[in-house]
Amino acid sequence: MRRAVFPGSFDPFTLGHKDIIDRGIPLFDEIVIAIGTNSSKKYMFTLEQRKKFIEKTFTNQPKIRVDTYEGLTIDYCKRINSDYILRGLRNPADFEFEKAIAHTNRKMSKIEHVFLLTSANTSYISSSIVRDILKNKGDVSLLVPKAVLDQ
Ligand code: ADP
Repeated sequence: MRRAVFPGSFDPFTLGHKDIIDRGIPLFDEIVIAIGTNSSKKYMFTLEQRKKFIEKTFTNQPKIRVDTYEGLTIDYCKRINSDYILRGLRNPADFEFEKAIAHTNRKMSKIEHVFLLTSANTSYISSSIVRDILKNKGDVSLLVPKAVLDQ
């Protein structure tokens, strides 16, 4: 089975994340959207909320599973038998950051990183901008899936 992990903090899940998943679905038998938890990091949404947003967004998609993990992403991939890490690339800064991680992971494991370039109409979206808008009571309806708006 061709299984990929799509790791992230998803605080919250956005239409940019969804675009990468929707386009990754035909490439894999299963995509596990894995919410990484870091106890020293402060999140706007709880782990349960972040998980629920993603589960609701993909209710009718049998290829998608949502999980949470702590520690290194490659250790998590080995635990669930995934040979691929799926990531989205928005801009050169993402590329430089992802390149270092992918090279490091390749040294430490056989896991292959697969990168999808974002769609032009969602490439500007980031969870941090969504959080800023929400903190200031702005409208994020064009940036996040319906499940996040319904919270
Ligand atoms: P992290 O905390 O690991 O950066 P994020 O939740 O911010 O996690 O992002 C997870 C993945 O989604 C990363 O590969 C990131 O590049 C990708 N991503 C984030 N925003 C977008 C977007 N607007 N379009 C496509 N991919 C995105």
